[in-house]
Amino acid sequence: MKTVNHWIGGKTVEGASGNYGPVTDPATGEVTTQVALASAEEVDAAVQVATEAFQSWGQSSLAARTKVLFAYRALLDANRDAIAELITAEHGKVHSDALGEVARGLEIVELACGITTQLKGELSTSVSNRVDVASIRQPLGVVAGITPFNFPAMVPMWMFPLAVACGNTFILKPSEKDPSAAVKLAELASEAGLPAGVLNVVHGDKVAVDALLAHPGIAAVSFVGSTPIARHIHTTASANGKRVQALGGAKNHMLVLPDADLDAAADAAVSAAYGSAGERCMAISAVVAVGSIADELVDKIRERAEKIKIGPGNDPASEMGPLITAAHRDKVASYVKGAADQGADVVLDGTGFTVDGFEKGHWIGLSLLDNVKTDSDAYRDEIFGPVLCVLRAETYAEGVALINASPFGNGTAIFTRDGGAARRFQLEIQAGMVGVNVPIPVPVGYHSFGGWKDSLFGDHHIYGNDGIHFYTRGKVVTTRWPDPSEAPVGIDLGFPTSR
Ligand code: NAD
Repeated sequence: MKTVNHWIGGKTVEGASGNYGPVTDPATGEVTTQVALASAEEVDAAVQVATEAFQSWGQSSLAARTKVLFAYRALLDANRDAIAELITAEHGKVHSDALGEVARGLEIVELACGITTQLKGELSTSVSNRVDVASIRQPLGVVAGITPFNFPAMVPMWMFPLAVACGNTFILKPSEKDPSAAVKLAELASEAGLPAGVLNVVHGDKVAVDALLAHPGIAAVSFVGSTPIARHIHTTASANGKRVQALGGAKNHMLVLPDADLDAAADAAVSAAYGSAGERCMAISAVVAVGSIADELVDKIRERAEKIKIGPGNDPASEMGPLITAAHRDKVASYVKGAADQGADVVLDGTGFTVDGFEKGHWIGLSLLDNVKTDSDAYRDEIFGPVLCVLRAETYAEGVALINASPFGNGTAIFTRDGGAARRFQLEIQAGMVGVNVPIPVPVGYHSFGGWKDSLFGDHHIYGNDGIHFYTRGKVVTTRWPDPSEAPVGIDLGFPTSR
C-alpha cells in the first residue's frame, strides 16, 4: 500500500507517531493508501523548521520570490494532468472537474507572481515640515492552512501562494481523506526553487490541527471546511492570539424569476447542483422558483438530471463521480429517504444507485426534491451531495426573505432578464458572493472569496486583496529629514500635530 508522508524542510519526512489514516479510492471503495497522522511533537518540529526558514525568506527580495513563483506557475501548468489524476484517485471527481480546480488554483499563483505591484505600499511626501509618511506591509511569520477534502489542490492554492509571496513561511494541513495532491504541490514548489522550509505539508487529524491552533510559533491560521469546525478554529486560534480566517459551509440558493430563460436556468441548476456530486461549497443546493414557473422549471431540471452519466472519475464518459466516503453517501441518502415524511415531493430518488463493475464504490444517483419545507432537515442542513431542493415563492420579496433567513451566506444567484430586479437583488441579498445569471459565482483570483454569516468567521475573505492583507501586517513610518540649513526643532511637550 502507498504511504503518504509529511513534506517538511524541502523533503519527505516519515510519520513518527505510529498513527496512520486510510485513504480510499471512492470509485472502488478500496483503501489504496495510508497517510501519516502527525502528533503534537511532529507539528512542533515542523513549526521550528518553518520558523528557521522565515529568518531568510522573510528578508528575501521580491525579485527572488517572484522568480520562484513564475517557475512554479510553469511547473504547475505542465503538471495539470498529473495533479488532476491524484485528485480523482482520492476524491473521486471526474478528470475534467479536477482539471478545473487546478486551473482555479493556478489563478492565485498567477496573482502571486504579480506581488511586486501589490506590495508597493503608500508614500505621502511633505505631510508636515520636511516630514514624509510611508505605509508598508510586512509578513507575519509562520502561518498555517487547514483545508477540506473537496478541493484538495485548489483550496491549498487559495492560501500558500499568496502567503509565501508576501514573505511568510507556511504549514499546510490538508484533508486526511485525499492528501496526495497537496504533497505534489509542495514537491513542485521545491522543484521551482522555493527554499526548504518555506512550504511544509503536515498531515493529520484533530490532533495535528489543535497542535497548530495552540502553537505559539504560528502567527495566523487560514481554514476552509465545515461550519462547526470553522467556528472551533476561529474561537480557539483567536483565543490563542492568532489572526484567523475560517471559511465554513453553505446552503446556496438560486432565485429564478418568472421572466428568466428557463432552459438556461435549468442547465445552470443541474450543473451547479450536481457537479462534483454536490460536494462543492458553492454548489446550488436550493432553487427558489418565483411565481407560476415552478412546475415547468422542475420538469426541465428533472429531464436534464436523468441524463447525467455517473461513473468513475477517470472514465472520460463520466459526468459525475462517487461521494468521498461510504458513510457520507449513507448520510446523504438519509436526507432523501426522510424527505417525503417531512413534506417534500421526491421527484428523483438517487439512493440505491450503483455502477456495474464498481459495486463497492460510494455511489449515489441524482436526487430532486420539490416543495421542500424550510423546517425540514433536507433544507436546513448542508447535505453536501447530489440533492437539489426546490422551494416555491409567490413573489420576489418572499424569495429574498426566504434566502436571507438562512444562517448561511456563502454564494447565491438570481436568474432573470430584468436588470432592475437583478440590481436590487445584489444589494438586498445577505451573502458574500452573488451571481447574476451565473450559478457558481466563485470570484476570479484578483477579487476575494468569502461568505457572510455562518459561512465565514473572521474579517478577511480569502485570496485577492483580502488575502494579501491577511498575510501581511501594516507599518507606518513617519520620517523627518531636516534641511541642513535649518535650526533644530527644539523642545515642545505638546502633542505632535501637523505644521
Ligand atoms: P471538515 O470541516 O470536516 O474538515 C476540514 C479540515 O478540518 C480537515 O483538514 C480536517 O482534518 C479538519 N478537521 C476535521 N474535524 C476536525 C476537528 N474536530 N478539529 C480540528 N480539525 C478538524 O470539512 P470537509 O468535510 O473536509 O469539507 C467539506 C466542508 O467544507 C463543507 O462543509 C464545505 O461547505 C466546506 N467548504 C467550504 C468552503 C468555503 O470556501 N466556504 C470551500 C470548500 C469547502
